[in-house]
Amino acid sequence: LLGDDGVPRATVFAEMSALAARTGAVNLGQGFPDVDGPASVARAAADAIAAGANQYPPGPGIPALREAVAEHQAAHYGLHWDPDREVLVTAGATEALAATVLALAGPGDEVLTLEPFYDSYAAVIALAGATHTTAPLVAGPDGFRLDLDALAAAFTPRTRLVLVNTPHNPTGTVLDREELAAIARLAVEHDALVVTDEVYEHLVLDGPGTARHVPVATLPGMAERTLTISSAGKTFSFTGWKIGWVTGPEPLVAAVRTVKQFLTYVNGAPFQPAVAFALRDPDVAAWVVELAHSLSRRRDLLCAGLEDAGFAVVRPQGTYFVLADAAPLGYTDGVALCRDLPGLAGVVGVPVTAFTHAGSDVDRALRSWVRFTFVKRDEVLEQAVAGLHRLH
Ligand code: PMP
Ligand code: GLN
Repeated sequence: LLGDDGVPRATVFAEMSALAARTGAVNLGQGFPDVDGPASVARAAADAIAAGANQYPPGPGIPALREAVAEHQAAHYGLHWDPDREVLVTAGATEALAATVLALAGPGDEVLTLEPFYDSYAAVIALAGATHTTAPLVAGPDGFRLDLDALAAAFTPRTRLVLVNTPHNPTGTVLDREELAAIARLAVEHDALVVTDEVYEHLVLDGPGTARHVPVATLPGMAERTLTISSAGKTFSFTGWKIGWVTGPEPLVAAVRTVKQFLTYVNGAPFQPAVAFALRDPDVAAWVVELAHSLSRRRDLLCAGLEDAGFAVVRPQGTYFVLADAAPLGYTDGVALCRDLPGLAGVVGVPVTAFTHAGSDVDRALRSWVRFTFVKRDEVLEQAVAGLHRLH
């Protein structure tokens, strides 16, 4: 967690958003929408404040939200969890991930993630004192796919947790049934628990090669050994509200709840009823479907612009992000390029090596790659693309 100088490191998102603010460049770095979610949901939060939802909510989350999460898992995936014992509300998926890893892994345990991995995974595995192992996602004609042989080789007798993320940040991969089945089979074989980060569950994009989101917990035998994590931020475009949740079997959820108590105790009193409303309201559900369509269109706009500008692009199946290789433009170091990008193109991106282990095969393979977000208005994406053309 420390930089070379021993000073705690800022997350790459803080660093890149600060760079955008300082230079006035278009911020395609940190993934957050530049248009808020439905007004009805914002109004529900304001109403909750007016109605007095301003003191500590119950430890596991308000009953209405736990019930709405349980209904959501049942309606979308046929997963049945008891809202009282098997659903826990957290301060976003970030706290859910931290509390889960801290609860279930410690020194001597290995936590296996897919590389590249979302940055907070490495940090919380380090905080837990566990060892971080990885299995690579490799770029090919069908996008970044899980190397199944390398996955099998990454499991050891010490593998305690497999931390899966689908749809996957930063690659945009939606894991397919074969990949998920391989993870499930190996987890059972090695008696490992699975933690799955599904914050982009509703942001599966359409167009050629459309994928379908399959929660790991729906695979045979997996519900009993899987904790599923999601949150309201991405689904409803309220990333600042930080309402997340964990669902799974009672003993595992109870362990996570124990740790959560001492991280934040409780969180987001007025936002919890608003998110319960959002999960249940049919008009909001239609809004979410429309968001995925609109994101698909914006993905296409940014991918085409990046290709025109000379990048090699792997088209993502989901999330807010596309990975682009700057090597065809003559740039070999994504970190240096991202530092210079505001000056060269008026754009901020995130070097993909922010999501890799220094020196790993994936790190070497993705050295010249940059992650850009397309969850911005068309005119913002067009401005970014125009700037990126100057790199030629
Ligand atoms: N997991 C992934 C893969 C993410 O991209 C993010 C960023 N939003 C999070 C977790 C954190 O989610 P939250 O904002 O709900 O804490
Ligand atoms: N998940 C967002 C991203 O990957 C940002 C979240 C954060 O700032 N930690 O860009």
